[in-house]
Amino acid sequence: MNFDFSGKEEAFRKEVRAWLEAHLPDDLRGRAFAASRADAGEVRRLRAWQRTMHAAGYVGMDWPREFGGRGAPLTEMVILYQEMARAESPQLVNRGGVSMLGPTLMKHGTPEQQRRFLPKILTADELWCQGFSEPNAGSDLANLQTRAVLEGDHYVVNGQKVWTSMGHVADWCFLLVRTDPAASKHKGISFLLVDMQSPGITLRPLRQITGEAEFNETFLDNVRVPRENLVGRENEGWGVAITTLAYERDLLTFIRHISLRNALHRLVRLVQERGRGGDPLIRQKLAELAIGERALQLNGYRSLTRIARGGQPGPEGSTSKLFWSHLDQELALTATQVLGPYSQIAEGSPWAPDHGQWEFYELLARGSGIRAGTSEILRNILAERVLGLPKD
Ligand SMILES: Cc1cc2nc3c(=O)[nH]c(=O)nc-3n(C[C@H](O)[C@H](O)[C@H](O)COP(=O)(O)OP(=O)(O)OC[C@H]3O[C@@H](n4cnc5c(N)ncnc54)[C@H](O)[C@@H]3O)c2cc1C
Repeated sequence: MNFDFSGKEEAFRKEVRAWLEAHLPDDLRGRAFAASRADAGEVRRLRAWQRTMHAAGYVGMDWPREFGGRGAPLTEMVILYQEMARAESPQLVNRGGVSMLGPTLMKHGTPEQQRRFLPKILTADELWCQGFSEPNAGSDLANLQTRAVLEGDHYVVNGQKVWTSMGHVADWCFLLVRTDPAASKHKGISFLLVDMQSPGITLRPLRQITGEAEFNETFLDNVRVPRENLVGRENEGWGVAITTLAYERDLLTFIRHISLRNALHRLVRLVQERGRGGDPLIRQKLAELAIGERALQLNGYRSLTRIARGGQPGPEGSTSKLFWSHLDQELALTATQVLGPYSQIAEGSPWAPDHGQWEFYELLARGSGIRAGTSEILRNILAERVLGLPKD
């Protein structure tokens, strides 16, 4: 296998590197690896950044031209993400829309839905959140109970979602609902696109260990959703959701890799600045992290190669998510060892290193093994669907 980039690809790298140097706003540079998405002001800045990137043709690069993308090969998208990491740029604020819902709509959406929603995903004019989890449906997602009943031209939705990241700043939500309670668990589920301004939606913020409330409880009380916002067929939403989740584990993990790389680069500089480079234990740890980061990247290439050849993300994508969460937590822990008690100082204090990003990062990393599939569930998927071991 040849991991080298072609001359054309290296020329693209040069172009995007120069563009990022010239355009990445100073207030976003270097604060990238643990950026908050709870604060409305920060989200505004991140929206503006995605818009600037879109205007330059750097959002949805791999999307086909007919859907507003650039039709670029995945290798160029990889280069873009590598250069964003190098420039210490934040990730796209609408990454759920770009990397999960977008590919789902391209596969399962109607032409009207594609025309209506895809362009505004790219420009971040409409931010999306994911309404899948419920109090009794997390790992066992198919247990979801939120009901939708078709009345005339509208579905009337009642129920509760939980852990809705960015629900309070999102314009739209892709929501899983039960439309046939009599059917078996995986049947009778439908996939709806819901305007977050619809009457009957109430959000209650959930404060996290980081101190911020990036996710929410979402209550739906007789929320009316136009029938044309059903994606795929009624009662066949599970298959649609599987597409979304597979892209979350594959493409989104590849993108999360940007934050990890940002953090690793910053950590290496921190070790140098604090004169800890001679400590053999820290050197060893940094070497392990650098090797892990490289392995994650190569594994990501493997998944992307399959998608580039016309395939779909498969259960193998779980390896990347599983390994990413391990590395993320190890990196956060190493940073606390390097910084000692300073690692606990939060943003706002003059003594907080890197504006308190390390304190935020260490706490945020606690959730890495839970979001987008817990580590236990991913091990089950790998055991059963990749290795063919007996079911648990
Ligand atoms: C930072 C963050 C952001 C999130 N954002 C969103 C969002 O935007 N939208 C959304 O819908 N959801 C979101 N989630 C929710 C996330 O998808 C769920 O937390 C996750 O699926 C786990 O579900 P649960 O929390 O109900 O835990 P449970 O499913 O109740 O699991 C509890 C524990 O039991 C273990 N377990 C469960 N079943 C098994 C089994 N069969 N075998 C072995 N172990 C098992 C799990 O691994 C876990 O350790 C987010 C979560 C986090 C942490």
